[in-house]
Amino acid sequence: MKSTVSKALFIAFAAFVAISCSYQQEHQYRIVFLQCCHDEWRDVMNSEMKRELAFHPEINLEIVDSYSDTEKQVEQIRSLAKQKIDLLIITPNEAKPLTAAIEEIYKSGIPVIFVDRKTDSEHYSAYIGADNYELGKTAGKFIASQFRSGGSIIEIQLEMTSSPATERNRGFHDAIAAAPNLKIVEALETKNGLEDINTHIPRILNEHPETNIVFAHTDFLGVTAYKVAQKEGKVKNLFFVGIDAIPVTKGMQDVKNGVLNATLLYPTGGAEAIQTAVKILKKQPFKKENKLLTNVITSDNVDIMLSQIQKIKEQQVEIEREILKITQLNKTYSSQRNRLYFISALLTIVVILGAFLYFLLQEKQHSNKILEEQNLAILEQKNEIEKVSLLARKATEDKMRFYSYISHEFKTPLSLILTPTEDLLQRKNTDLKETHSTLQLIYKNANRLLRLVDQLLEMRKLDAGKMELERSQNDLVAFIKDIVGDFSVKAKQKHIDLQFISPFKELSFAFDTEKLDKVLFNIISNAFKFTPDGGLIHVSILKNTDKIEINIADNGIGMNAEEKAHAFDLFYRGNKNISLGTGLGLALSQEFVTLHGGEISINSEKNKGTTFKISLPIIETKQVLEEKSTAISYKTTYEFDDSEPLLIKNNSKHTFENTIILIEDNRDLNLFLNQKLEKQYNVVATENAEQGWQEILSYIPDIIICDVMLSGMDGFALTQKVKSDFRTSHIPVILLTAKSQIENQIEGTKAGADDYILKPFNQQLLEEKLKVLVENRDRMRRRFSNEVINPNQLQKGERRFLLEFEALIDKNIKDSTLSVEKLSQELGMSRVQLFRKISALTNKNVADYIAEYKLQKAKILLKEEEKNIAEIAYELGFSTPSYFTTFFKQKTNQTPTEWRNG
Ligand code: ATP
Ligand code: MG
Repeated sequence: MKSTVSKALFIAFAAFVAISCSYQQEHQYRIVFLQCCHDEWRDVMNSEMKRELAFHPEINLEIVDSYSDTEKQVEQIRSLAKQKIDLLIITPNEAKPLTAAIEEIYKSGIPVIFVDRKTDSEHYSAYIGADNYELGKTAGKFIASQFRSGGSIIEIQLEMTSSPATERNRGFHDAIAAAPNLKIVEALETKNGLEDINTHIPRILNEHPETNIVFAHTDFLGVTAYKVAQKEGKVKNLFFVGIDAIPVTKGMQDVKNGVLNATLLYPTGGAEAIQTAVKILKKQPFKKENKLLTNVITSDNVDIMLSQIQKIKEQQVEIEREILKITQLNKTYSSQRNRLYFISALLTIVVILGAFLYFLLQEKQHSNKILEEQNLAILEQKNEIEKVSLLARKATEDKMRFYSYISHEFKTPLSLILTPTEDLLQRKNTDLKETHSTLQLIYKNANRLLRLVDQLLEMRKLDAGKMELERSQNDLVAFIKDIVGDFSVKAKQKHIDLQFISPFKELSFAFDTEKLDKVLFNIISNAFKFTPDGGLIHVSILKNTDKIEINIADNGIGMNAEEKAHAFDLFYRGNKNISLGTGLGLALSQEFVTLHGGEISINSEKNKGTTFKISLPIIETKQVLEEKSTAISYKTTYEFDDSEPLLIKNNSKHTFENTIILIEDNRDLNLFLNQKLEKQYNVVATENAEQGWQEILSYIPDIIICDVMLSGMDGFALTQKVKSDFRTSHIPVILLTAKSQIENQIEGTKAGADDYILKPFNQQLLEEKLKVLVENRDRMRRRFSNEVINPNQLQKGERRFLLEFEALIDKNIKDSTLSVEKLSQELGMSRVQLFRKISALTNKNVADYIAEYKLQKAKILLKEEEKNIAEIAYELGFSTPSYFTTFFKQKTNQTPTEWRNG
């Protein structure tokens, strides 16, 4: 991500730089013009240059004057050579002294343009100047044309050291030579300037009175000569011709004024110099030698010329104004262009950043999406893990439940083996009949254990996938008939309509006899267990093209939805009596049917009956032969459980002091315990807690022995019920449990059980515990009967009961007709229940208890109150004071008065 950000910023920056660079300012050139000297003609040259420059804003021109100082000009050249200039324009002051310096600068790569004059060297870029020879020649030709008939000429020359002077002279002489009528009377070289004119012109005019023409190399020299001739009074016949034609003020004006008759235009070349410079700088083709043309100006054309010049000047002003405007516009344009560039650069950056942001957003959305997907995957995994852990937990719980069931299932028959064995060992006299029945009990339970172990082993084999089918071809009709036949005796006993209905006489079919026998036996014996006397059990067979269906229908107690859903679960026994089975039968049956490739299903409704449907695919004999076929006829031997509800009320001749209610759903254990206990106690034995509770209420027994694992209300629930009802709360409860886990003991104590005994238990231990409980109770009773009632000694519930009971007595104490019935009614108990409760707690009957209470109260009243004996007697509900006195004396051997004073 970091690298993408820096990449984007870099792109934006590069774009900015590129756009900024695309705006290039036009290249500016630096040109220096070294002017030799100063005069009006040169001023014209300078201003022509400037005018031309107006069209080239890219060129900066510096004009430097050396004021006719040659050395100075050399110095100027040298200093320029060191600076950065693009081009040099020069009018050399003198030819020779400057040649070297100019050559040097030219060779250093700076183009050099000569204007007007040049040096002797050939090393220069271009020359611009008037052709002085042509000038001289034109002047000669013009004069010849004006003076065809002949004329005498005075030539006033410049100093003949400069090239223009010699050239002009040469040209002039060549033209005059071609005109035979003309002659030069004298050529005057102005070595000393005007001095020579002043001195020599009057002389020449005197010496050559025929002179009619004066040709001067410059207008200035001509005008000066004019003035001298004028002074001499000889001007009238003279024709003056000059060179230069400086506009407006000089030359041209002199023509206009009639001083000069004609002047030859000597072009400065300023404009041409700049034009050539531009070509050189821009690498365009240019001419090295540029000769400027001349023109003759006379009174005929001077006005036109002047007005043209005037116009040019005005146009120049206009052009400059326009240029100024253009410059300003250019400035505005360039600043706006700059702004535009800047804005477009910014815009580009914005666009790039925008694109980058969009990219980032896309990235973010993409990563968000990935994150979301990952989250979803994690959530799914979490759910999966939760599911798996739930399954694992359930599996562990199932396993734990399995172990606790297994231990319970084992401990019950084990108790019924160990306890009777101990009993046998301890027995001194050997009553044969009793010994036989005890041994039978042991045998039966050992068998039961064996069956349990068998079933478990089968389960294990099934679990490990090692269970194999051993099919053999058999007649299914005969097979089922045989099994149903085994139940006929039982059906007769229970008056049950047991039928086997088959449309076939014989049905040959390949199946595992041992396994199908177990399945059918279990389902039919279930039907017997859960069908009351007088019901019906019908077994039938049907055959389709590819399967056989066996239906076992009963009209028994049926199953609710929950029971139906769990019927095939291991150890599931629904809400049925626990002693009726282990809950393994159907689980195994289902596995066996599945092994046959078949299905088993239940159709059942509560209180309407149940139908089990077993469908088995018909397997061809050929196929069967391929399978392992060992046709061992197997017949399971089963003992039948007797499902008559058990309620044994001990009606033996002996009535013992203490009554025990025994609640145990295992019939064998119940019978065994009953047998043992009935020798010392009155025993009422039941198989379930609901019935047990009814018996408890009607007997208010001295001890309750109850199994923990009961179907319906279990041992803990019963204990809680007993302990929270004030009619029964005093009765000690012993819980019998096969569950040895400590938390069950805690649960038992919380419910208020007084003791618990773990299965398999020792018969003697149970008897000991019973004895201790009885003794404790007796000790408590004795204390109550001898001492003043001290409710603190009792358990909380009992104390509350007695306090309530006493409060009730106190409320009714004045009532001389107060009876046990009335009190028990007010307490919501039966007379017997009240009697047994008070007797259990205090070893007194209710009437004695009331009397005792009245006595205690009388004692207190006699000591504390001011009341007389009669008053106290009525207050305590005695019908007469004398009855009270007799009662008091009987109990204390003192009369109330003696007690009061004693
Ligand atoms: P086991 O067969 O191991 O001795 P069981 O008979 O209690 O013990 P299953 O044969 O597995 O166990 O039956 C499971 C439970 O399904 C029974 O305890 C009972 O609650 C219910 N059940 C089975 N058959 C019937 C039936 N015909 N009518 C009503 N309830 C039934
Ligand atoms: Mg069963």
